Amino acid sequence: ERGRPDLIERALVIGDVASDSGLDSGTGELIALARTLGETVDVAVIGERESAAQAISLGADRVYLLGGEALVNGGSDAALQAFESVVNETRPGAVLLAKTDAGADLGPRLAARLGTALAQDCTSVGLDSDGNLTATRPVYGGNAVARVSFGTGQTGLAIVRGKVYEAPEADPSRTGEIIETSPEIDPARARVRSIRKVEQAATGIRLEDAAVVVSGGRGLGGPEPFEQLTELAGLLGGAVGASRAACDAGWIDHASQVGLTGKTITPELYITVGISGASQHMAGCSGSKNIVAINSDDSANIFKDSRYGVVGDWKAVLPAFLATVRELRND
Ligand code: FAD
Repeated sequence: ERGRPDLIERALVIGDVASDSGLDSGTGELIALARTLGETVDVAVIGERESAAQAISLGADRVYLLGGEALVNGGSDAALQAFESVVNETRPGAVLLAKTDAGADLGPRLAARLGTALAQDCTSVGLDSDGNLTATRPVYGGNAVARVSFGTGQTGLAIVRGKVYEAPEADPSRTGEIIETSPEIDPARARVRSIRKVEQAATGIRLEDAAVVVSGGRGLGGPEPFEQLTELAGLLGGAVGASRAACDAGWIDHASQVGLTGKTITPELYITVGISGASQHMAGCSGSKNIVAINSDDSANIFKDSRYGVVGDWKAVLPAFLATVRELRND
């Protein structure tokens, strides 16, 4: 007898471990989502026991803690086999992955192996009145939203955007089951191997976690003005972002790109300088609480979404703004 017939029986979260150990914040967000879908929430993760305990404190009922040398030192092919074995064992109605490089790599391959459907870049996942899994996802460069349904009795795979669900507060008193397992990895099917890990040196707050983001676009005209943006972000305790045009021009690393094909951010304050506000850019920042735009063109699209807009040349506006912020900070 099931206690919650309005939910599917099980939802499985494919967990991710952050580089400094412990679960990635995205895994907590997926657990929060999974709790709204499945009566039982399972998490599968390649990692240490602490990660499993953390998953339980965040709302998992069962954690498949995957280990073994072939897996831990293996690449994505080995991980794929391991996660496939968990899906085959638990038969979830929904499998949730985060929209990360790992999720984008695993999701489609896992769906192909399972012979089931996958929805990419989901901004929401739910159940319809018949209990079928549904999802919404932006299409046509963020200009329209598609609602998709996975159909009855299917295992649906969804790759979910970051920051659309809020990770729950950890409750260390929660209990759950940890199933430690070393799935069999077929070496003939594990052709991609991890040779070495290179950590990108990062300073300051992660773009996705920052409460204040200052982004620059093509209107800046070159890489140098990003120094001013960096100073402003530093004074406001935030991070620097960019439009794709600025990244493509090589003025700043692609890791800083905000948008459809970049990062999704939801800061309290988003300041844009020389960004037109193309739909593909807005797809990554429209969840910002307050957008402040500096742009010389009063008909720029960014002004439609901004709470405060300054029509003017950034070369005049930005130094004055910076000077005022500096002064206020020194008080
Ligand atoms: P522009 O559109 O060229 O805008 C520059 C702005 O600067 C203008 O509005 C101009 O008025 C202003 N300006 C110029 N000089 C000054 C000055 N002196 N002072 C103040 N303002 C000035 N884009 C993203 O950002 N992120 C994505 O993830 C992304 N993904 C994409 C995915 C696809 C499939 C496609 C097709 C496109 C994608 N794009 C993305 C690109 C997007 O369509 C735009 O081309 C891009 O966002 C434009 O960047 P921009 O606003 O910096 O440049």
